[in-house]
Amino acid sequence: MDALAEDLAALVNRESLLTEPDYLMTYECDSLSFFKQRPRAVVLPRTTEEVSRILAYLSRKGIPFTARGSGTGLSGGATPVEGGVVISLARMDRILEVHPRDRCALVQAGVVNTALSKALEPLGLHFAPDPASQPVCSLGGNVGENAGGPHCFKHGMTLNHTLGLTLVLPGGEVLHLGGPCGEPDLDLAGLVVASEGTLGIVTEIWVRLTPNPETFRTLLASFRSLEDCSRAVSRIVRAGIVPSAMEILDKKSIEIVEASVNKAGYPLEAGAVLLVELDGRPEEMERPLSAVEEACRKEGALEVEFAKDPEHRMKLWKGRKGVYGTAGRLAPDVYVMDGVVPRNRLAEALHRIQEVTDSRGLVCPNIAHAGDGNVHPTICYDGRDPEQAQKAEEAGREILRICLELGGTITGEHGVGLEKLSLMPEMFPPGSLRVMRRVKAVFDPAGLANPGKLIPLEEP
Ligand SMILES: Cc1cc2nc3c(=O)[nH]c(=O)nc-3n(C[C@H](O)[C@H](O)[C@H](O)COP(=O)(O)OP(=O)(O)OC[C@H]3O[C@@H](n4cnc5c(N)ncnc54)[C@H](O)[C@@H]3O)c2cc1C
Repeated sequence: MDALAEDLAALVNRESLLTEPDYLMTYECDSLSFFKQRPRAVVLPRTTEEVSRILAYLSRKGIPFTARGSGTGLSGGATPVEGGVVISLARMDRILEVHPRDRCALVQAGVVNTALSKALEPLGLHFAPDPASQPVCSLGGNVGENAGGPHCFKHGMTLNHTLGLTLVLPGGEVLHLGGPCGEPDLDLAGLVVASEGTLGIVTEIWVRLTPNPETFRTLLASFRSLEDCSRAVSRIVRAGIVPSAMEILDKKSIEIVEASVNKAGYPLEAGAVLLVELDGRPEEMERPLSAVEEACRKEGALEVEFAKDPEHRMKLWKGRKGVYGTAGRLAPDVYVMDGVVPRNRLAEALHRIQEVTDSRGLVCPNIAHAGDGNVHPTICYDGRDPEQAQKAEEAGREILRICLELGGTITGEHGVGLEKLSLMPEMFPPGSLRVMRRVKAVFDPAGLANPGKLIPLEEP
């Protein structure tokens, strides 16, 4: 054991420390495999006090660190930094308090998203943000990235469901920001949401709980073209309807879902399908549901199909939620991207994305959280072939530039991490980036918390 390992072992018990190369290899990257860096050590603390002791020690030694939840991030946020230590929150997985009447709970950061909702089921409550990775990803990671999901169009992203949190600063100081009643004034807890582990480590979170809807009504509309489908989305929003989810799948996505075990019954002849869900009280469903149907038909829907029962609803959703996994049938590697465009430019964006990938000979199924204009092109490539990997990276960069050109942003919910760092100066003016660097320096003057992620270190 080297000196660092010996010191860390004295701060936490030995079984909470990993230093063997075989174990360290599994922490080299998150779900984006373009970037890899082996950490010097991985520590798995169980309490806020342990995290505080570790950060105080690393600060004295000037060693950088990276917080890691479940490592499902798609932008390299949890990828270690050179010479750094990974602090995994995976063993901090306890639900500490539940207050059904106040609709809030206090959880440790390593609690898995669906584990919380499953535990709350008997109380008729759940945690609303529903990333497709929810059976695996942690609530700390959701806070780190401000995670969203199909149902966030109506219910809001992680930021809207975070009332407070415990943050351990680099150096070891413990801050309690907000609480069960939220943050009364300057919202420092809100500032930490989406900071990608660059301000410190979140160990506990006060989350807002949402009552389970009494009913869901789900429909699938198929269209000849992406244009018709996108116009239907705009028409639904213009009519003042707020579905809980509105998801577009393009032709390629339909084809791969229907060729997989997660067959959803999506019509193969369609150029695009729109999956719309409404939730609420049964007596409030009919009017908005028929307005959605009417909007789809007015924009030329080929067919509108309503989920007949909960099993049919699950089948329609299983197809959508399985797109990334199913894309793995097309190539050994998938690069799941994330950008945002104004809703009325969705069809244009999706066509241009197709051109970018087609011109490089890459297959790219496209799905979108249509209500938010959030596109998720899934570029399929073979990472063993350096030329293909380079093409995939280049295509990704061009796609994000298209999002900016159309008036959108380079991330909707997957964060900046390492993947989009070099595009930050194209999205933000120098003044904004300077302020971000100053904010980081207030929390982390020595620059040890996940440096080189999210905020470019130097002036361009
Ligand atoms: C198949 C698949 C589907 C996905 N679908 C969605 C989706 O629909 N919507 C969506 O938003 N995302 C989605 N993602 C991306 C990812 O799951 C989310 O970003 C998720 O929030 C990451 O959680 P995690 O626990 O895996 O975090 P990690 O990947 O471990 O970390 C993410 C970031 O948060 C930081 N972090 C983690 N824990 C803490 C902590 N305790 N304190 C401070 N910082 C911390 C890390 O340093 C890193 O920067 C998907 C990913 C996959 C693989």
